[in-house]
Order: sequence, then C-alpha cells, then structure tokens
Amino acid sequence: MTDLDELYQEVILDHTRRPRNFGSLKGANCRAEGVNPLCGDHVTLQLQVENGIVRDARFQGNGCAISTASASLMTQAIKGKPTDEVVRLFERFHQALTSSLEGESDLEGLGKLAVLTGVREFPLRVKCASLAWHTLKSALEGRSEPVTTE
Ligand code: ZN
Repeated sequence: MTDLDELYQEVILDHTRRPRNFGSLKGANCRAEGVNPLCGDHVTLQLQVENGIVRDARFQGNGCAISTASASLMTQAIKGKPTDEVVRLFERFHQALTSSLEGESDLEGLGKLAVLTGVREFPLRVKCASLAWHTLKSALEGRSEPVTTE
C-alpha cells in the first residue's frame, strides 16, 4: 500500500466511525431516499436549499463503510455551495469514480472526495460510493420516488 492509499483509508475509516452531518435536519425543504440493493445500503438525505444555495445537509441510514463515508464527505463538500456547482461536483466525482484505471483521472477540485476514487478498482463499490450522490441529485430535482443504483 502506498502512503496515499493509507491516508485515503484513514479518512474513510474516520468518516465511517464518526459520520459528519448525521441525523435529521430541521427546516429541510428537499429530501430523497436512495437504495443500493446490491450491498444493502440505504440513505435518506435532507437538504435546506435557499436561493439556489445548499444551506445545510444531513443524512441518515445504514450501509457499508464506503456508503457511509461517502455520504458524510458529500454533506461536507456541498454545504454552502450553489446547487449548480453541486451538480458539477457530482459529475466530476462520478467521472473520477468510473474512469479507466490506466487514464489519470482528474482529481482537481474534488478535495477530500478524492479519497473515494480508490473504489473504481471495485465496480460493486462504485455503487456504494455514488449512492449518496444519486440521492442528492434526486433531492435537488424534487423527485419523490426513491432512487436505486440499479
Ligand atoms: Zn455498500
């Protein structure tokens, strides 16, 4: 394992053990649910969006280490950001997760989210890492059906 891998592992473990922004959000005006049946991950996301800006975000649910760490890191990354920037961040993150192993993926602008891109070696784990983000997109689009990664 390289030093970078070790650092990434540490960040993921930290967010799994002590998820940030976990709980329910008073005053939430966007909400969505996501399910990843392949792993059994379940996440509920609540957002407070005002004037096109994500003021606050919380998540609840249960799932594997990767899905929990991803949701925790995501809520940190999106707070205070305009929704169009959040959508662009999702696209960049998703691309980094699914890009080929040979090609250098573009990690610029991902910040801490880069720690999750190691899962692209494990296709099943990609769904765990992207679940919270698909749920986020659904919440912003105001869809009421739960999203699944299938
Ligand atoms: Zn999972």
